[in-house]
Amino acid sequence: MPANDTPEASAAQAGDRQTHGFQAEVRELLKLMIHSLYSHREIFLRELISNASDACDRLRFAAIGDSALYSDVSSNTIRIDADATAGTLTITDNGIGMTREEAITNLGTIARSGTAEFFRSLSGDEQKTSQLIGQFGVGFYSAFIVADRVEVRSRKAGAPAAAAVRWESGADGDFTVETVTQAARGTAVTLHLKTDAHEFADAMRVRGLIRRYSDHIGFPVRMRKEGEASLEYEVVNQAKALWTLPRTEISDEEYRQFYQYLAHDFTDPLAWSHNKVEGKREYTSLLYLPARAPFDLWQRDAARGLKLYVRRVFIMDDAEQFLPLYLRFVKGVVDSSDLPLNVSREILQQEPEVEAIRGGLTRRVLELLARLAKDEPEKYASFWKEFGAVLKEGIAQDHANHGALLPLLRFASTHAADNAPQVSLADYVARMKTGQDRIYYVIAESLEAARGSPAIERLKERGLEVLLLAERIDEWVMGQLETFEGKRFKDAARGDLELGGLASAADRQQHEAQLKESKGLLKRIKDSLGERVTEVRVSERLQESPACLVLGEHDLSEQMQRILAAAGQKAPAGRPLLEVNVGHPLVKYLDGVADAGQFSELAQLLFDQAALAEGVSLSNPPEYVQRLNRLLVRLAAPVDSTTAAP
Ligand code: ADP
Ligand code: MG
Repeated sequence: MPANDTPEASAAQAGDRQTHGFQAEVRELLKLMIHSLYSHREIFLRELISNASDACDRLRFAAIGDSALYSDVSSNTIRIDADATAGTLTITDNGIGMTREEAITNLGTIARSGTAEFFRSLSGDEQKTSQLIGQFGVGFYSAFIVADRVEVRSRKAGAPAAAAVRWESGADGDFTVETVTQAARGTAVTLHLKTDAHEFADAMRVRGLIRRYSDHIGFPVRMRKEGEASLEYEVVNQAKALWTLPRTEISDEEYRQFYQYLAHDFTDPLAWSHNKVEGKREYTSLLYLPARAPFDLWQRDAARGLKLYVRRVFIMDDAEQFLPLYLRFVKGVVDSSDLPLNVSREILQQEPEVEAIRGGLTRRVLELLARLAKDEPEKYASFWKEFGAVLKEGIAQDHANHGALLPLLRFASTHAADNAPQVSLADYVARMKTGQDRIYYVIAESLEAARGSPAIERLKERGLEVLLLAERIDEWVMGQLETFEGKRFKDAARGDLELGGLASAADRQQHEAQLKESKGLLKRIKDSLGERVTEVRVSERLQESPACLVLGEHDLSEQMQRILAAAGQKAPAGRPLLEVNVGHPLVKYLDGVADAGQFSELAQLLFDQAALAEGVSLSNPPEYVQRLNRLLVRLAAPVDSTTAAP
């Protein structure tokens, strides 16, 4: 590149220098950069090269509509100059550039909402923090991890040479801007390195970092040829659009590096899928499963989606129309040969082409997951731990793909020793007992509570497996499931237990007998509880506990009611049904209590305890405590009188 093409050939114009204060969030961020990041400092280079590459991408895109923008130099390039003597490092691009106003806004504020979220998610773990910086879109400020002064010179593509800007800051709360003259479009960022960061002015070190972190950005990154006096530049990265190459020409290491660049991640991806579709419709996709969930996975407005290219021209980041919401953890690139270059987000939403690609990519991801689950179960388990709760949303969002989604689900289970979700529905079905034709599950506030739920006592006693669930969305998700391999799903805490062929003739006889014997008792309990329950009946479920609450097949659970209420929706309060274990000593005792007041008090206690065991909050906890205390006092009274006796 001839010298007068470069942004740094610029001169200050007198008299319009201004000082601006950084936005408060930026100040806080800078403090963090300067004072608490000592490891992984090299990420600044990846971030600045990524900005340079974005700037080139944006120019290429803008030039589609206005080819004059390319008038001076038509190829895009990034140049890096390391000056060990001066202790500086300069990253220069001939991309879109910035106006003075843009420099003030872009390099003085944080554009994204949710900055507070960013700070909250910082854990003091430096590796995590340095990763967040890139993911959150505050990469520019990472320059201050290694520099005590940063200078930016920029000229917007299409703007006159005399309207360039020079921005400078020592990260002490303000920055200055002044108008300068600059021969070429684009941006040069110069870092005046801290004394303990001079390693980044060493050309060898910088080359190593470029190959490691920026090898696969779409533009050539040039550095001076080795040898003191050399003025010639050479390309030090691969600079090819990786996804356009045939699979056989790409090494695993290259795939991994490309992921790290795309996702601003240090960890390797778990798996990837690279495909070229040809024929009626043509597109290439390279999709990755990250190993770890990003901090904003659950944030509603978090950026997600794929990098979109049309015939290798970068169009946009975060094109979210190409994958369903429940696959929002996927990172990658989609390059279409059929979409128009001037495609916008609005157009993407209506384009039937996009709908078709989305269907194809969804299948690819589900296939990739199925392959991982089959061939690398340990990796799949770690995927499930990070993203299982998101993938589950697919059960509710994507009925058409239930066939592919159901085998991907993993559960904790009464037949697994710990609470790690490792049981698949296929495992469950393979272990079903003869005569069993339901897939039993139970949902509670925690997996421990689910495991200990009175509602599954009988099932456990029979050695029947019960899937254990405890996540917020589980009730919603499980409600959408009908059958797996012809077996119906059954919530063990609702309606009848549907033991079907599992109940023996003796079981049924015993149940009949209990029904007859307990008629009077059940009525007395119902009269005591009144409106608190819809019905009191003899339980088939219980083994050790005296009573449990059961919901109707379609009633909303307590948790669900609370979620709806929190979302401002009116939820009909479902009244539960109380099941009692007529063989239990406490229930037998109750049957013998003649005093109406005492009977009612005990019946209320029975109900409240059944509610507590379900993890349901009591409507009147003090009343419960008083009742329990009165009972305890009665129990203690005779003891007191004996000890008090002479
Ligand atoms: P992000 O890249 O995620 O937007 P950064 O903090 O890295 O966040 O950069 C902030 C903004 O500064 C960018 O969005 C861009 O507008 C501007 N910017 C940074 N570097 C350059 C550059 N080399 N050329 C043009 N604009 C840039
Ligand atoms: Mg950036």
